[in-house]
Amino acid sequence: MSSASTSISFVDLTALHAPLHEDITLAIRRVLERSNFILGNEVQEFEESFASYCGVPHAVGVDSGFSALELALRGLGVGPGDEVVTVAHTFYATGAAIKACGAEPVFVDIDPSSYTMDPSSLEAALSERTRAVIPVHIYGQVADMDPIVEFCRRNDLWLIEDAAQAHGATYRGQKAGSFGDAAAFSFYPTKNLGALGDAGAVTTPHKDLAERLKVLRNCGQKEKNVHEVFGFNRRLDTLQAAVLKIKLEYLDEWNRLRGKLALLYNDLLSSIEEVQNPLVKDQNEHVYHLYVIQTKDRNLIAQEISKRGVQNGIHYPTPLHQQEPFKGADRRGLSVTESVTGRILSLPMHPYLTEVQVQNVAAALKESLIQKES
Ligand SMILES: *Cc1c(COP(=O)(O)O)cnc(C)c1O
Repeated sequence: MSSASTSISFVDLTALHAPLHEDITLAIRRVLERSNFILGNEVQEFEESFASYCGVPHAVGVDSGFSALELALRGLGVGPGDEVVTVAHTFYATGAAIKACGAEPVFVDIDPSSYTMDPSSLEAALSERTRAVIPVHIYGQVADMDPIVEFCRRNDLWLIEDAAQAHGATYRGQKAGSFGDAAAFSFYPTKNLGALGDAGAVTTPHKDLAERLKVLRNCGQKEKNVHEVFGFNRRLDTLQAAVLKIKLEYLDEWNRLRGKLALLYNDLLSSIEEVQNPLVKDQNEHVYHLYVIQTKDRNLIAQEISKRGVQNGIHYPTPLHQQEPFKGADRRGLSVTESVTGRILSLPMHPYLTEVQVQNVAAALKESLIQKES
């Protein structure tokens, strides 16, 4: 085995940033020269560019995706006594943001092919206390929004998208982040659009919500030293905004490269009977934040491909309702959620992965399956 020398990274931020060193350094130097570190011009400039990219009137920069979710909920008035319907097949922050604002999550199941919220599970999750629904565009594919939007309208509920993995993804040609009353984005470094540290944003069609969010993220102040509401320190740093503005220009090209690599993976893996490729619904354009397959004996296969130098991950190994902070949470039939967590496996995916590396991942997977048989 020649694994060590040919190790294939799961993500490669060094390769991603290499062509941008000069631009990023200049942008950082400009901020340093002005020393406008808190809510400098770059924050508003990035917010405007990002809102326009998503096809929404407003974007408000915050310090993480977690804050984006929590402040969106708080800004819409969701709090103690309220229930928010979401999925358990997601990252911790989706559920934690609901608890952070004092509300309770109600977990519903996912669609077995797209891994996104199953719209047919919503009706049973509705109660007198339901205030909002948070679908998650997991792995880079937008949830089935038509029935979800319709359900929220009919029941007078807020719709908040968790778009932390879906920058640039579309559903019927419409961009992630433009379907609901608010959408939360994360710019965690490994996301399709990432900062050089933690950052996030809320997009919204509502001007009044955007204004409330700007107050909430800034210690409740509209005016200095006048704290008109109970706010927090959740601002987006000027430095991060300056870097994000540069990186936003490359997002479409990076997403295109991810899509191309995914097609190659699909092609190479389609002949392996034991492997189920990611499925993309007709109306969707997937941006492959993660390339996730399903396979039997997942833990063994993960171990075998690791031995062959292929980094991999599981997103996520334990659904939220089985994690300690959510143990008592309300849930509705999570059989699909529970069955996929034992079978999913995320393979290396980033814009600068080479075709040869994808071929090597596919070969390692084939070898591992043969190994397992023998
Ligand atoms: C990354 C992520 C978040 C949280 O983002 P942070 O910036 O890490 O706080 C929320 N939801 C999903 C689905 C994510 O992948």
